[in-house]
Order: sequence, then structure tokens, then C-alpha cells
Amino acid sequence: MSGHNVLWVPGTDHAGIATQNVVEKQLASEDPMFRTAMSEVKNKNIKEKQFLSQELYRYKIGREAFIEKVWKWKAEYGGKIIHQLKRLGASCDWSRERFTLDEGLSKAVKEVFVRLYEEGLIYRDNRLINWCPRCHTALSDLEVEHEELEGKLTYIKYQLTSPVAPLSKGGIDGGYITVATTRPETMLGDTAVAVHPDDSRYEDFIGKTVDLPLTKRKIPIISDNTVDPLFGTGAVKVTPAHDFNDEAIAKRKSPPLEFITVIGKDGRMTEAAGSRYAGMDRFECRKIVLKDLKEQDLLEKEEKYKYSIGHCYRCKTSIEPLITLQWYVNVKPLAREAIRVVRERQIRIIPKGWENTYFAWMENIRDWCISRQIWWGHRIPAWYCQELKSEECRRKSGVIVSRVTPQKCPYCSSEKLVQDEDVLDTWFSSALWPFSTLGWPDETDDLKTFYPTTVLVTGFDIIFFWVARMIMMGLKFMGDVPFRDVYIHALVRDIKGQKMSKSKGNVVDPLTMMDRYGTDAFRFTLAAFAAQGRDVKFSEERVEGYRHFVNKLWNAARFIMMNIETNKNQKEIAERGVEVLNLSSRWILSRLATATDNINKALEEYRFNDAASEIYQFIWHEFCDWYIEMAKSDIKNPNLEMSVLRCLLYTLDNSLRLLHPFMPYVTEEIWQKIPHVRRNGEEIQDTIMISEYPKSLSRDHQAEENMSYIIDAVLGIRTIRGELNVPPSAALNVSIKSYSRKAEEILKENMKYLKRLSNSADITIGMEIDKPEGSATCVKSSMEIYVLLKGVLNIEAEVSRLRKAEKEIEDSFFLLNKKLLNEDFIMRAPKEVVEKEKAKYEELLRRKERILESIKKLKEVGGEK
Ligand SMILES: [Zn+2]
Ligand SMILES: [Zn+2]
Repeated sequence: MSGHNVLWVPGTDHAGIATQNVVEKQLASEDPMFRTAMSEVKNKNIKEKQFLSQELYRYKIGREAFIEKVWKWKAEYGGKIIHQLKRLGASCDWSRERFTLDEGLSKAVKEVFVRLYEEGLIYRDNRLINWCPRCHTALSDLEVEHEELEGKLTYIKYQLTSPVAPLSKGGIDGGYITVATTRPETMLGDTAVAVHPDDSRYEDFIGKTVDLPLTKRKIPIISDNTVDPLFGTGAVKVTPAHDFNDEAIAKRKSPPLEFITVIGKDGRMTEAAGSRYAGMDRFECRKIVLKDLKEQDLLEKEEKYKYSIGHCYRCKTSIEPLITLQWYVNVKPLAREAIRVVRERQIRIIPKGWENTYFAWMENIRDWCISRQIWWGHRIPAWYCQELKSEECRRKSGVIVSRVTPQKCPYCSSEKLVQDEDVLDTWFSSALWPFSTLGWPDETDDLKTFYPTTVLVTGFDIIFFWVARMIMMGLKFMGDVPFRDVYIHALVRDIKGQKMSKSKGNVVDPLTMMDRYGTDAFRFTLAAFAAQGRDVKFSEERVEGYRHFVNKLWNAARFIMMNIETNKNQKEIAERGVEVLNLSSRWILSRLATATDNINKALEEYRFNDAASEIYQFIWHEFCDWYIEMAKSDIKNPNLEMSVLRCLLYTLDNSLRLLHPFMPYVTEEIWQKIPHVRRNGEEIQDTIMISEYPKSLSRDHQAEENMSYIIDAVLGIRTIRGELNVPPSAALNVSIKSYSRKAEEILKENMKYLKRLSNSADITIGMEIDKPEGSATCVKSSMEIYVLLKGVLNIEAEVSRLRKAEKEIEDSFFLLNKKLLNEDFIMRAPKEVVEKEKAKYEELLRRKERILESIKKLKEVGGEK
């Protein structure tokens, strides 16, 4: 509509871990063997059940058959997101739909992997990673959710092999060193005890050894700068194979400390934990270890302790740090560039506040673990030579990374090659989206035309997962940013501001909303509440409210079309364009110009809620409430008829185009039915979708000022009607004291509108008018309005009605006060209930003020002071 060559590519990623989980669960539950097994473990805990579902199924049917099942599942359910987008009226180019596992994108993934490997930016290493024992895969740091939980800090006594001076410094018993830990079961894998080098309490302990309880091992007491003397006793156990800090300590030592893995990939204790514990679940083992320590009198104490525990973002199982061999991307050089382009404003993040979040993460970025031990995804293009027949092959550890499947080892010609079992992190392929979907690595016309793209619209929760990685990969492989603007959209929450979740049962299905209220009303609601930097509190009532707006527009269009269709000069109306004669037409065109400016500006600045509110105000309150109402009499006047009809049509046409991005369906439907007013020989398109988006016209300040007198007068009379409960049918006698000659003139010229719009029988206008006796007053900036009410209103009856209403409010106050002054209620009731009661109180207060104001006015009318 604004004349740009636009491309919006629809598509989805394969959501590796999540999809695999769903399919595993579904397939497992369909399997009779699985069901029998489940009934056997009925009484065991849920974790065990989950392990079972996993292991039984995936490994039973094997890789190929399993992948085939996932593709089948994908064919059945994978279209859901795309279907929702279509229902929402998203104007994507559907012929270009892409999927991260499709052929072209898979080719791009291989290309990127091989190039990064050849440049040394992808490497394989054996180190501690976050492991999910339920999903059986490594996770990147980002995929671990940290949660503060109430746990226990356990103090364990480790006996020194040769005691230091008894009760040495700080009153510490020289026979033991006590360590504090949140994970006692990992002590089976300790390879040292560490203290801070400057901690005088332990000066004599450094260099000694202790007998590690429950094992036959002796371990050293070492010093390390990272030990916090204030944590626990100041002495900590070091378990390099199960803790990231301990891994760092172990690697700093020369020679490095030993790594002993006592927990396996299934979350169960290994043989290395000792025969008593091997095979136990890690949490079960914790209980047994504590029991055993207690029996040997090595458990000093346990105290409550809050600490952060990492969980798998997909299944919420506690993460186990494990030493495994994984693939990594060295992202630091890529991140440096990605920071630079945002600092230099080559990419803008909107709202700007998110830039800090981006910088904070990018500046502390750690290497990205990209291998996942699942089957659904891009299999890593690495093969391992099984024979290592040459010196070169041994030097390369037989690792072959290749774009095509190698037939033999390039180093030793062996034909025994095995491909890596792992797949890549889903985000590895998503990171390439801006160029892989345009045909990269081929040099396509699409890439030339559309890269760099203009804008990425996304959620704040994937700034690191996705946005940052697209920026890094785009810069690396295209030599330019992938997009200019990143618009971080609001999150849709429920009416109370809570995040929607299945477990809370507060999820709103967009399809249901669209079935109930129409897509236009639903879309408009979201746009209207999408204020930058604030979340959307969604309620069905609001959607219902905007459906009235759709109806209002529809009725306005029907009124206009009816009058055009019954006009004998029908053809001429559209062909001759607008020519302005009367004040109201000049005014509405000027207001249209203002609205157009404001909407264009708001859209350019991603203030979608401002744009929505502007178009809503214009169509409902200016076009429908004023212009169309005034036009109703104008079109009966042969001198005005043609120009007013043309202006109606022109304003409607422009309104539809302004509104189209928000409400695509109703605007297209109406636009198809109306003749189009031509301006400057502009071409008329077949669809509103590619018709021109309105640009600003010049404003008519004179018309706006003059019209404001009419609006003030009518609103003033209506206010008095409303406040004093004057029946709508009562035709009123009004006097208006204008403050300027000009206002007087304009009001007099437009008397017929004034009378009709305010339902007044007689209106007297002048600069020297006095307030008539028995009249109510409304003061505006350019005039004072007096409405004669003597004889129209039974003042006594009205006052007593208001007194009664006041009494009712007083009664409600009494009850509310009793509640709100009750400390018990304030303390115990949920916050939102208290807030609601307070809001009720405020509303009653406002109502009471209005009533008292009305009584005062009525008394004035009645002649009382
Ligand atoms: Zn998991
Ligand atoms: Zn080889």
C-alpha cells in the first residue's frame, strides 16, 4: 500500500527437543508393551515413569523408523501455526513457506557448519555441559531455566588423615574439616576440598589430605581464590565432574584435579559412586548418603537454604552438569561484530530498553554447545574413521567434516566411517533464516533484492536464542546485517496480567476468538493494546467492544452507499472527485488529513496502539458522530447534495485504506462494493491490499476553528441534558453567550445544525446575553450555554430522585468502609480483591460528586442559591 516491494516469508522451525518429546510420548502411549510396563511402575514416582516412556520407545524402534514417525506427525499437526496465521489474515507469500528441515535450508546448515569448522570456529570438546536426564540431551546455557528453591545446606565432616594442631585458629577442631554443600550425593565424586588462600582459619590445613567419607579415597585440601570464606564453613568440596565452578577450579590446578563421574546420563549413580550406590536415582541416593553419614557421625548439621537450581526448559527436570563430548561454536569473534552493529545503530532494537539486555548477554557470551543427543533435527555432518590407519588420520582423531557423505577416509582411505549420532540445536538452523530462506548459499535474485531485510518482529524471550544468533550469522556469511529494525512485541497476558499457561487454564485460543467475534475485531484489540514496552492484558470483552466498531463502520458505509445508489447522478459522484463547499466538509477533510499524518507517523515509529486509537477516534467520533450526522440534512439540499456525497465517499474510501492493515476483511469487503473517487488521475486497483495508503492532505485550520464552535455548543447542550436527566424528546430553548463576534457569526450561520444535533426548539445567540432565570449553565472556552429548564423539568421530583440515589451511595459507602477499615480483610484478602474494592470506592465517590453537582445545578434552575 505504501509502494514498497515487500516480502513476508512464512515458515516454522522443527523445534527439535519439544517435537521429539511430544511424539515420543504419543507413540509410547499407543504401544501395548509400554502400557504394560507403565502399570508395573504405577506405584513408583513420576520421574521413573518418564524415563521408561523415553527409553522403551525411541530405542526400541530405531532411528530411521522414529524419524519417519515424526515426519508423519508433522504432516498431521505441523500446519497449525501456519493455519492460525492465515486465519489472522497475515499477508505472507504462502507460496514461499519454508521449514528448517526442508532441503534448501538443510543445505545451508551443512554449508555453515563446514565453513565454521574449517575456520576453526566450530570444535569438539569434552567438558562439563548442562544435561537433561529426561530428554537425554545436552542443552545450551540458554535452555536452562534457573529457579530459586528452598533446599538444604548440609555440613559434612571430612576426617584429616593426619590432624593439624587441635583447636587451632578460629577454634576449629583440627581433626576434621567440615564442608557445606547443597548436593551431598555428589561427595562420592569429590577430588579435593578447597579453601580461600587468605582464610587464616585454614592456613594449616592446606596441603593436608582427608579420607573422603563413604569411599576408600584420600583427597587433598587445596586453596583457590574463588572460594567464598563466608559461604558455609569457608571450606567447600570440589566435584569437578558435576559442578561448573568445581570444573574451573580443577582445571586451574597443576596438574589438574581428577574428574570422577558418579552420576550417569540417566540421572542414576554410576559404578564409580561405589557398589552400594550404583544404579540408584540421584535423589534417592542423596537420602541414603545422608543416612550413611549420620550413622558414621559425619553429618554435622543441616540447615534451610535458598538457592538457584537449573531446570530443562522443555521438561522442567533438574539439570545435571555432566562431562560429555560435544560440538561447540566459538561465538566470541562473531559476538564482537554483532555488538558493534547495534552500538553503531546499523540495527535498531525497539523499544530501546532491550538493547541493554542484548549487550549484557553478548558481552559475557560463552561458547555455544550445538550438539543435541536427539534424533529429530539436522544430523551433524561429521564422520569418524574407525581405523585411524595413517599418522595424519590419528592426528585428526579420524574426524571428517564434509558437505557430502564421504565414501572413504581422506586421511587413511579406510572405508569404515561412522557418522556422528547427534543433531544440531534447532536454533543453529533458525539462525540462518534471513538468508537461508532466500536461497543461500546460492547467489539468488531474492538475496540481492531482499537482503538485508527491513524488520524482524519477535518476542523478548528469544532475543538471545534467535535475534542475536541471526545477527551473528548474517554478518558472518552475508557480510551485512540481517535486518535494520528489531521490533520486540508485547506479550499477551490474561486480564489479571498473568502469563497464559495450560496449567493455569487461562489460555485464549485465537481461533475461538476469531470464530466468536471475527478476525477484524480480534486483530484490532491486539493492536489497540500493543503499547511499546507494556504487555497486553487480554480480555474477551474488549474484543466484543471492537466488534461494535466493525458494525459502526459497516452501517456508515451502508448509509453512504444507499444514498449514492439512489442518486440519479450516481456516476458523476465518483468520477468528479472532491470539491468542497460547506464548512462541515472542509472540516472533515482537514480532520482526515490530521488523522492520516498521525497514523503514518505512529506506524513508522511502531506505535501500533496510537495508530489504532487515532483511526478509531477519527472514524467513530469525527466521521460517524459529526460529519455523517450533519450530512443527513445536507444531502437533502440540492445545492449541497453532490459535493457532500462526494466528500462522504472520499472520506470513507480513505478511512477504509487507513484501517485496512488493522481490519483487513471488513475494509476489503466494503472497498470492493464502493465506487472510488479519483484524485489526480490515480489508478484504481482491484484490491484494497495494493491500493495507495493515504498520505497527508493539507489542513484547513479555519474550518477546524469554525467547526469547533458548533461542536462546543452542541456538546454543551448535550452535557446539560445528560447531567440533569432531561428527556431526549424534550425540545429545548437555549441561549448562547458567545465570547467573540466570530463565534456568534458561525453559530448563527449554522443554526440548523445546532438545532438538529441538540434537539433544540429555539436558540438565541449573542455577545450580550444574560443568563435567563430558571436555566442551567455549561461553560466552554468560547461561550456560555444556558438551557431553560423551567417547565421542562419537574425540579422537585428530580432533586428528590437524586437525593435517593445519594442515599443509596451512602449505604454502599458504609458497607465498603466497614470492609476497607478492617485490617483483617486488608491483610488476608487477595491483593486483587482489595484493589477491586478500593476501585469501587473511588467510583462511588465520583458518582456522588456528580450527583451533588447536578443537585446544585437544579437548585440554581429552581432559583435557589
Ligand atoms: Zn528435559
Ligand atoms: Zn582414517
